[in-house]
Amino acid sequence: MTDTATRAREILERLGAGDPFDPDGEAGGGAGPRAADVIVSRSPIDGQEIGRLTPHTPAEVADVIGRAQGAFEQWRTVPAPVRGALVRELGELLREHKEDLGALVSIEAGKIVSEGLGEVQEMIDICDLAVGLSRQLHGLTIATERPGHRMMEQWHPLGVVGVISAFNFPVAVWSWNSALAFVCGDAVVWKPSEKTVLTALACQALLTEAARRVGAPEQISSVLIGEREVGEALVDDPRVPLVSATGSTRMGKQVAPRVAARLGRSLLELGGNNAAIVAPSADLDLAVRGIVFSAVGTAGQRCTSLRRVIAHESVRDELVEKLKAAYETLPIGSPLEPSTLVGPLIDESATSAFLAAIEQAQADGGTLVTGGEKADGVAGGQYVRPAIVDMPKQTDIVKAETFAPILYVLTYRDLDEAIALHNDVSQGLSSSIFTLDVREAETFVSAIGSDCGIANVNIGPSGAEIGGAFGGEKDTGGGRESGSDAWRSYMRRATNTVNYSTELPLAQGVEFV
Ligand code: NAD
Repeated sequence: MTDTATRAREILERLGAGDPFDPDGEAGGGAGPRAADVIVSRSPIDGQEIGRLTPHTPAEVADVIGRAQGAFEQWRTVPAPVRGALVRELGELLREHKEDLGALVSIEAGKIVSEGLGEVQEMIDICDLAVGLSRQLHGLTIATERPGHRMMEQWHPLGVVGVISAFNFPVAVWSWNSALAFVCGDAVVWKPSEKTVLTALACQALLTEAARRVGAPEQISSVLIGEREVGEALVDDPRVPLVSATGSTRMGKQVAPRVAARLGRSLLELGGNNAAIVAPSADLDLAVRGIVFSAVGTAGQRCTSLRRVIAHESVRDELVEKLKAAYETLPIGSPLEPSTLVGPLIDESATSAFLAAIEQAQADGGTLVTGGEKADGVAGGQYVRPAIVDMPKQTDIVKAETFAPILYVLTYRDLDEAIALHNDVSQGLSSSIFTLDVREAETFVSAIGSDCGIANVNIGPSGAEIGGAFGGEKDTGGGRESGSDAWRSYMRRATNTVNYSTELPLAQGVEFV
């Protein structure tokens, strides 16, 4: 057994998550007829097998949803501030096990140590937000035209929330959805990425313990192990009123019509193709730091990763030179080494996509400034040198989201041109501008500026905090999660009119006697 496999097994044991190599144990799909395939989890650090689990069958998925429905019917009767206790307990357990869960994220998703820990911190933060929210799930009182009447709006628990998540935020996305869903009175059934099943089982173990401590129904949260077919069974089940799906635009375009066909709701968090405009007045040193973190952090595997720099012609050469210098000193290697800044890509197909995109960009007239090749790392892992490619124009490959560390540089002359280039992609997740000119900054965040769900000034597009609503427009899917009023997606709204008079006046002056 390898080092990554041993560490993963030890962590799962400490978290009470069962044996990752025991398909019929707690970690597997549970009792019942088995699907033929086995889900194998590999560490991207060294390619070693760290878990082997049996996927859920369609019949088991239906059973899990049925039990979640039962839990929901109980949970919705618990007052929201009392429901907050479950999430507070989860937050405490996450604090207690932050090191372990962060390390497991590094082992299974390949994030560097501080990003693995940062992801767990994000979970803790959303728990804090949700606990406060459990006392603030407020509706409105609305003026009514009828004397002796009161009109109000209430928010009620929705039901079973289906969560589908991507490999690159293997635990945070579940918590963004679940922390809100639990205080809103819902049950959650989670289909994590088939590439990151162990981190999901670790979260489930912590939640089960939190539920036990506060006396919440155990089936309030369940994990489904499997690939796309298991996700589809969740998507098609009419007992799931909301499907919150995070992943590629390809996946969202498959999920949304299926949910819509049964008139369910979907909350989509899909791909991005995020850009930063660097204006003539930009503080270039600040811009370089922001750009490098956003483009190279998580080895370019964040939905908010910076993929395009749109630089003014007056600063472009100096910016590219500074970026090249910064890129060439980046420590690449095992994400478990504290000095590493660039860990591995998730798997071999990600490396192939990286190399193919660079080849295509060059065929389109692009010039490779630095990187763009495989790098030494740990044997068996997928390590690459982050690339900068100077592009003469925004070709199709630049408009596509290649989920790897490639930064395309485009050049502009005036801000209108920069904004047009910026918005001329199908995705609309995150964006930024580096400028010290208040007119440019305000234009960028105005209605005629960035068309993204997130638009920043003098910081890169990645690294959002949980207090704001998170999500994007166009091919990014239009969903919003996390802070602000995102909780409303997890509840149903009821408008109530109460007559406390002895008369029965009708609205709009209608007479009916
Ligand atoms: P992916 O689309 O391959 O898989 C995501 C999840 O969807 C997995 O659990 C997968 O099993 C499931 N799935 C795939 N097809 C399905 C179907 N037809 N029905 C039901 N479930 C299905 O994505 P990935 O490679 O794991 O993650 C990378 C992608 O996710 C990138 O495009 C990235 O931008 C995006 N992402 C977006 C956000 C966001 O908040 N906008 C956050 C993280 C990742």
